[in-house]
Amino acid sequence: MQITNVICPQSKYSIKCPYAMTPEYITVHNTYNDASAMSEISYMLGNNLKTSFHVAVDDERVVTGIPFNRNAWHAGDGRGNGNMKSIGIEICYSKSGGDRFINAEKLAAEYIAMLLKQFGWGLDRVKKHQDWSGKYCPHRTLDMGWQRFLNMVSSYLNGTTPINNNVNNDGSEVEVKTYQNGSTTEVIYADTSLTKRIGSLNPRERCDCLGIFNDRPMVRYKVDGKNDYKIGFAKWKGGVR
Ligand SMILES: [Zn+2]
Repeated sequence: MQITNVICPQSKYSIKCPYAMTPEYITVHNTYNDASAMSEISYMLGNNLKTSFHVAVDDERVVTGIPFNRNAWHAGDGRGNGNMKSIGIEICYSKSGGDRFINAEKLAAEYIAMLLKQFGWGLDRVKKHQDWSGKYCPHRTLDMGWQRFLNMVSSYLNGTTPINNNVNNDGSEVEVKTYQNGSTTEVIYADTSLTKRIGSLNPRERCDCLGIFNDRPMVRYKVDGKNDYKIGFAKWKGGVR
């Protein structure tokens, strides 16, 4: 299981996770979006909205963004147990569904089982967003059957399906840094082998840097003229601050 820990800057604690927390539950969400886990976490940490969650899971990896000893704003129940005592986990790609979502749900079930084992908890600790505030979330997981999802967690928990404990630490402990482009346009690529161009950074443009992967800085930058962000890889490492 590939787990990447993105560190929430302390300066964002007052917005994203103001209270110390001793977790007692896990709350399951669906993103109602079609973005990757890294994208969800970096967007969440990069904006100044109060919405926050601890973990996002897609079909490839688990990405954490808020430490489990801090609260997060995901359950819609104010200072209730959802927001104040539960670890919020977002399952990605729920808007369009399909294989990516199916596999993200599977990985989330495996990860949740691992957490339950770590905390010494039973399946009764797994809640849905709906339990706290009535919101129909995790929407696609509910459509497909909540008990079905719990059974999936249970099969990992009871060892019927083995948990892949080969934690791949590539990219672990990533700190959100700043990338300051130099005086020329920097091409941004979809992959670390720099084969597919997806955009560019303007001269002197600043954006978030989510760490270095395969020697390439991963950047989250704003698309020119649109209220949208992309994540990709730059060639030049000198811009990482
Ligand atoms: Zn939710």
